[in-house]
Amino acid sequence: MTAATKPTASDTTDVVLEAVGLTKHFPIRRRLRTLFAKQRAVHAVEQIDLVLRKGRVTAMVGESGSGKSTVARLLAQLVRQTDGQVLLHGDPVRAKGRRFRAYCRRVQMVFQDPFASLNPIHTVRYHLTRALRIHRSDATAEELLTRVALTPPERFLSKFPHELSGGQRQRVAIARALAAGPEALLADEPVSMLDVSIRLGVLNLLRDLRERLNLAILYITHDIASARYFADEVLVMYAGQVVEGGGGEAVTQHAAHPYTRLLIASAPDPDRIAGAEVGVADLGGGEPPSLIAPPAGCRFHPRCPHVMVRCRTEAPPRLAVESNGDGPHWAACWLYDANTVSAEEAAD
Ligand code: SF4
Repeated sequence: MTAATKPTASDTTDVVLEAVGLTKHFPIRRRLRTLFAKQRAVHAVEQIDLVLRKGRVTAMVGESGSGKSTVARLLAQLVRQTDGQVLLHGDPVRAKGRRFRAYCRRVQMVFQDPFASLNPIHTVRYHLTRALRIHRSDATAEELLTRVALTPPERFLSKFPHELSGGQRQRVAIARALAAGPEALLADEPVSMLDVSIRLGVLNLLRDLRERLNLAILYITHDIASARYFADEVLVMYAGQVVEGGGGEAVTQHAAHPYTRLLIASAPDPDRIAGAEVGVADLGGGEPPSLIAPPAGCRFHPRCPHVMVRCRTEAPPRLAVESNGDGPHWAACWLYDANTVSAEEAAD
């Protein structure tokens, strides 16, 4: 197999947002520094390349602590990257000034907890009209509520966040994001705090907005099943790195990377015996690694059932795997390198 092509997609017109080599290291505090004298930072996100396109949903899937929410915050410029670039229509984002404000209008974020993201002392009308005023939009609060299917809008305008259900609150948060007239929406676990019965409605709303407004959506989730339902493309994150990517169907139905396979095996299964929820740790025989001193080579090697000699020292590049007609499919795994010598063979 050959090395997969990296996203250098700014030349194509449907690309809205692009990350190239995006890296974030959080310096550790002085008290901890004495304990970890040689390692001075948490390597939260390392060399992420991704492309968000008009009218497409890209899902970023991984366990808690894999760095996926940090990627969303980096793209929203809520935190600054240590290295790498964020490009909007091919232009690198500026740190301040008029162009930065324009960037913030065009790239909006929807947070996991709609109750925390809305001010409890203000009404829905206040939240929406304030956002419209800040972004100098000609739309009205009524139009925004109609766009997120909170109708009739008059019924919701004077309500406070605590008078709404979780799903309605998240719809108001989405409406507020739409007030800016964004081109890209970064949805960080937008349904994980909602009741199971209303998750589908919010996902369908996002899908509908993607089609009607031609939005580029990044959908951050730990639930690979919802990624399959909702996303055109899926990226799998492990320990701060993207380890597999491809079409939604290809990654979820023909997973190539051993970590993705474990993630799928650990997803809730209605046929499994009640109470037997299985985590990746149960299936992989271990916990995710420390990001202060990540493992050398492939970061998944301490947990991988297929670990080989070279996995412990050499970090695998993106390698193309057989495509199932769902676009390019790749995995950062030595199993897909034609020159790989298995640990058994090497030992012979
Ligand atoms: Fe496992 Fe090696 Fe592939 Fe990493 S590179 S996932 S350790 S087989």
